[in-house]
Amino acid sequence: MLNKKSVDDINVKGQRVLVRCDFNVPLKDGKITDENRLVAALPTIKKLIADGGKVILCSHLGKPKGEPKPELSLAPVAVRLSELLGQEVKFAADDNVVGPNAKAAVDAMQDGDVILLQNTRYRVEETKNGEAFSKELASLADVFVNDAFGTAHRAHCSNVGVTQYVETSVVGYLMQKEIDFLGNAVNNPVRPFVAILGGAKVADKLNVISNLLEKCDTLIIGGGMAYTFLKAKGYEVGTSLVDDTKIDYCKEMMDKAEKLGKKLLLPIDTTIAKDFPNPIDAKIEVTVVPSDAIPADMMGLDIGTKTAELYADAVKSAKTVVWNGPMGVFENPILAKGTIAVAKSLAETDATTIIGGGDSAAAVNQLGFGAQMSHISTGGGASLEFLEGKDLPGVVAANDR
Ligand code: ATP
Repeated sequence: MLNKKSVDDINVKGQRVLVRCDFNVPLKDGKITDENRLVAALPTIKKLIADGGKVILCSHLGKPKGEPKPELSLAPVAVRLSELLGQEVKFAADDNVVGPNAKAAVDAMQDGDVILLQNTRYRVEETKNGEAFSKELASLADVFVNDAFGTAHRAHCSNVGVTQYVETSVVGYLMQKEIDFLGNAVNNPVRPFVAILGGAKVADKLNVISNLLEKCDTLIIGGGMAYTFLKAKGYEVGTSLVDDTKIDYCKEMMDKAEKLGKKLLLPIDTTIAKDFPNPIDAKIEVTVVPSDAIPADMMGLDIGTKTAELYADAVKSAKTVVWNGPMGVFENPILAKGTIAVAKSLAETDATTIIGGGDSAAAVNQLGFGAQMSHISTGGGASLEFLEGKDLPGVVAANDR
């Protein structure tokens, strides 16, 4: 499937191996609140340690915008990684990332040692794929491994630029797993293939909707984006989230589905309230009405109970399911029922189930269904671009087999 060289194709004994990881973890008061991305990076790191490489890890964290921001230092990640690996991960705390600390630490490395560089986005050139920083990173290493799927849709120094100055560039296990799951699902799915899209706005997922319609057998729409489709059908949608500039697009997609003989499922009923909850988890009075009977002064905030059953049934008959974006305002327990019902149907099926990162991944994990999914992508934006059918620069840059 993935025709890129991986860590299984190289011998790193005694070599300096620069590994681009995705350690962009949420932090609260200097504590990591979700360590999924660290855990997901371990197989590649352990493999390189076991093979006797000198393992130099790098990553971005948040958006320091080219300046050292102490609250976005990777120091807490080094501490937690040391615990997870059971060996020291030395932190090279240079504000310019490749500075005297990093160089000295690399020079002192023994085979199997691990160090972590400072946040790559402390450098302003990082997101511009600048030459100087790419070369500095490359100067630390003999081999480059890209295991950061979450940034694979961006061409930055630490995942793309650096590959021009290192002879060998390969992908890590996490990257390979992401591409294999998402790639197989989209390009070579076991059918029936059901794709479920939700989230706030149609505009965010225009190309995803269009591309998936071509690839899947059934496309299910929920969340805020459903109301633009319902309006395009001529329904009154009250004060629900609608993008009036995308009504024609929704009509086009409904026509496209019909022409291709694909099922496009929209909510048949919807959970409505007077106002958007404020704060978001506030107690709120809701009712469920048919989708063509939303009163003019009410707002749709979740799929309804009949829709949840309809969508769960569609999932039951599927062999491959890809899901991106919540079915409603899931941050509020009263409005999370649609999202929970869909998550549960995915958890219960034997089909290959793939969660496309971001909010949907967080929702599935929070709801306790994480372990029952075949694959939860670690990249929101990257998995969306993949579902759009785009090539990811971070993947393209690795050496071909
Ligand atoms: P993912 O991260 O899985 O790709 P996403 O982050 O792209 O999903 P968004 O487009 O950000 O999804 O939408 C998620 C947000 O949509 C949630 O915060 C949720 O509250 C909101 N949302 C869902 N349904 C509605 C609705 N009916 N009205 C308004 N907002 C909604």
